[in-house]
Amino acid sequence: MGISDKTRKILWGRSGNRCADCRRELITRRTPDGDEEAIVGDEAHIAAQSPGGPRYGEGPPSGLHHYDNLILLCRVDHKKIDDQPHHYTVDRLTKLKAEHEAWVNHALNERATFPGGALVETSRRHVPVLSAYRSFRLALDSWEARIDAVIHANVIMPDPTELEQLHAQCTQAWRNSYVACGHLAAATTEKCADAAEQVLDRWKSLADDAVDKLLPSTHPGADPHDDIFDAEDELLKLIGADLGMTSSAVWGSARLTGKLGGTGKRY
Ligand SMILES: [Zn+2]
Repeated sequence: MGISDKTRKILWGRSGNRCADCRRELITRRTPDGDEEAIVGDEAHIAAQSPGGPRYGEGPPSGLHHYDNLILLCRVDHKKIDDQPHHYTVDRLTKLKAEHEAWVNHALNERATFPGGALVETSRRHVPVLSAYRSFRLALDSWEARIDAVIHANVIMPDPTELEQLHAQCTQAWRNSYVACGHLAAATTEKCADAAEQVLDRWKSLADDAVDKLLPSTHPGADPHDDIFDAEDELLKLIGADLGMTSSAVWGSARLTGKLGGTGKRY
């Protein structure tokens, strides 16, 4: 017996039609030339079905085709996790899936609950700090998308011109983040400014590794870029301490001060 219809519906629903790793949409649009939608996502098994396959025998006891053993991925990331099982362990993939589903949930709830972006109870000082933080975070989001594009390109090896363009876009996204980091530094305390710079440095190191093709093929075992999350958490905590808010309130409020809807990946 394969994956049941019910399980597939739950998987696609909770994943919001997006890859749990790179978050790209997994159903393409129809074309103006009459082509139907294309499904570019796979219901990937966390532990393989057959002996010798990636992570075979390490899956959850609930069964191979159970929801717990499945993760929704784009084709590129599916190949990546199956070719690199030492890095993409059952634990890592289970965590990736849980974080992704939480992100989908958060993004949808946020829009449903606060359509107007009300920020009634915050003081005058909060607004410039939160909106500077928000701009910085959005710049990082778009930088991250550029970095992901370079990482994908390393896997599929496009022609040199295309690769050069991707690198240039990555550099531009770094510049935007650098400027946004400066604005945040100017709006907040010295401690927060230092922490923001740390965040920028860590993303830069990830971007450099991606451009130098050190990602995703190397770094078996511990991911040296896991410290990005620690740096981001530290920044949130310091801004929160400065404004008398919790980290999650800073995160939530920063998303609500502007006009655009954010797509924070990590929270
Ligand atoms: Zn993907």
